[in-house]
Amino acid sequence: MVCIYCGGNTRVTNSRSSKKNPGIWRRRHCDNCNAIFTTSESPDLSVSISVIKREGSLETFSIDDLYVSIFKSLSHRREALNDARHLTNTITTKLLAECINGAIKIDALKIVCLDTLNKFDKAAATYYSAYYPNKPN
Ligand SMILES: [Zn+2]
Repeated sequence: MVCIYCGGNTRVTNSRSSKKNPGIWRRRHCDNCNAIFTTSESPDLSVSISVIKREGSLETFSIDDLYVSIFKSLSHRREALNDARHLTNTITTKLLAECINGAIKIDALKIVCLDTLNKFDKAAATYYSAYYPNKPN
């Protein structure tokens, strides 16, 4: 990657992957102007995960939809916005691990959400299963 200030060559002086987020953070140093800046990389989840629906069709995974579903389940909590953001990251990391050939079944996705919510807040898990019942409709 080139320097954001002068366009010179940069090298990575430090990098760290995050346990909570499926991304990596890098500190870069420009050999030309000595600027130091950080970059972060994260997977483009919309193209990384396909969701297999019950009837067999594929749908592109949407982290926004996931966030909304988690936020709805947490709406009784005072820190719902923050909690939903953290849980969405946790769930996304788990989904990436559960994917087979880049795809995950909708029921498996819901189980990951439910398990994660259940460990965090039992009431939220109850709300989630009421909003998104895990049975054929
Ligand atoms: Zn530079």
